[in-house]
Amino acid sequence: MPIDPICKREIPKTTPYITESEGKTYYFHDPECKKKFDDMAKNIVRVKRSLKDKEKISFSRLRKDIIKPGICAACGACPASCPSIIMEGEKPKLIGPCTACGICYNQCPRTITTEEGLIGRIRHPYAARSALKGVKGQDGGVVTAMLAYALDEGLIDCAIVTVRSRDDPWRPVPIIATTTDELLASAGSIYTHSMTIQALMNAVQQGMRSIAFVGPSCNIDAVYKIYKSPYGLLHMFMRANILPLGLFCMDTFSHEGIEDFVASKHLTLDDIESMKIRRGKIELEKDSETLVYDLSELDPYRSSSCKYCTDLTAENAAISFGGVGTPDGWTTVFTRSGRGYEIFNEAVEAGYIESRDLEEKEMARVLNLARMKKVQKYGVIRREK
Ligand SMILES: Cc1cc2nc3c(=O)[nH]c(=O)nc-3n(C[C@H](O)[C@H](O)[C@H](O)COP(=O)(O)OP(=O)(O)OC[C@H]3O[C@@H](n4cnc5c(N)ncnc54)[C@H](O)[C@@H]3O)c2cc1C
Ligand code: SF4
Ligand code: SF4
Ligand code: SF4
Repeated sequence: MPIDPICKREIPKTTPYITESEGKTYYFHDPECKKKFDDMAKNIVRVKRSLKDKEKISFSRLRKDIIKPGICAACGACPASCPSIIMEGEKPKLIGPCTACGICYNQCPRTITTEEGLIGRIRHPYAARSALKGVKGQDGGVVTAMLAYALDEGLIDCAIVTVRSRDDPWRPVPIIATTTDELLASAGSIYTHSMTIQALMNAVQQGMRSIAFVGPSCNIDAVYKIYKSPYGLLHMFMRANILPLGLFCMDTFSHEGIEDFVASKHLTLDDIESMKIRRGKIELEKDSETLVYDLSELDPYRSSSCKYCTDLTAENAAISFGGVGTPDGWTTVFTRSGRGYEIFNEAVEAGYIESRDLEEKEMARVLNLARMKKVQKYGVIRREK
């Protein structure tokens, strides 16, 4: 026998209170239940219309991220917003068709869904690429081009960047770059933790006062704390002025792990000209040939700290840079602070960088990846009992 989606009673199909909605027939106990449902259905249709071009999110995402890990607070928002969901004890359960409208996921108090919740505060999003010749960047070479501008203009004394070790290929070495040549040599990504703060402290001790610093969110957060915390040396004694430039980051892998992985393909790290991780694959470039492997092959070598990291886009940076969202050869850029916004746009005006506004569909890709990273937060065990 059908169930009245409002009062949840079993109703005979002979009831005079019936509604047809989205190809399904609903049976009601009385006119009040029918009216409540009809009003709700009308609103759902309106919300769905506004969500038409947004990403599809079905109940299974809510089940996977929130219900299964036990994060559901049994607030009742999802059954209240969809006739296909009921509460079974304290657990929401899908009992009807799901059109993947995303309403239940977006209304749940336990999910992170707002733009600010996913990528932090931004001033303006861009797609950009270097307009300088000779920059062989990981994506659009924008980090390197912007640093070159800041150095040429005397806005910074140096930049803390990471280069590949000469003796041990692809081992990251943080350096204090004071010349354009050093910057050009640092372009490209190394997918292993780099101890950038050590180089930053060395630069401060050498008397550098205006310093650009490049790193993923874990590095940027260290700078933020050293700078802002009452225990922070930069804040208390040294008064250095740091421009934190963040890199989007999903994962890093141990150097030895990457070496073993490459050896398993009968290659050596010496052979590899560039590495790129995207869309679940790792691409290795050798003699201008691109070799593509499943990223899951690197799972055993993933840094354990990255499993607990929820910040894709370096939310505490002055500007953040990433590959996701934009086409090949472009960098996704989020200006965040006033200073970051000014310097980036000055570099554009001075002809170091070409830029355009980030399109909505490009931003949607960033938000999707950011959401994948934020859900790690749901998996962290916060209290034993
Ligand atoms: C470990 C890591 C993981 C990343 N994961 C993602 C991701 O999942 N999705 C995404 O969209 N983007 C990711 N990025 C960012 C992306 O690879 C590019 O760095 C970014 O798009 C900027 O490209 P670009 O061509 O403008 O920069 P470039 O001009 O090539 O400059 C890159 C800068 O990164 C610095 N750098 C390289 N390796 C490191 C390191 N290990 N630690 C600190 N600094 C480093 C270099 O010194 C250089 O200054 C990751 C970067 C790193 C380093
Ligand atoms: S609210 Fe939308 S996504 Fe959630 S179960 Fe109902 S139809 Fe599916
Ligand atoms: S909206 Fe979220 S917290 Fe509330 S009952 Fe549904 S899954 Fe649980
Ligand atoms: S995933 Fe997080 S912890 Fe790991 S390197 Fe990237 S920013 Fe740092």
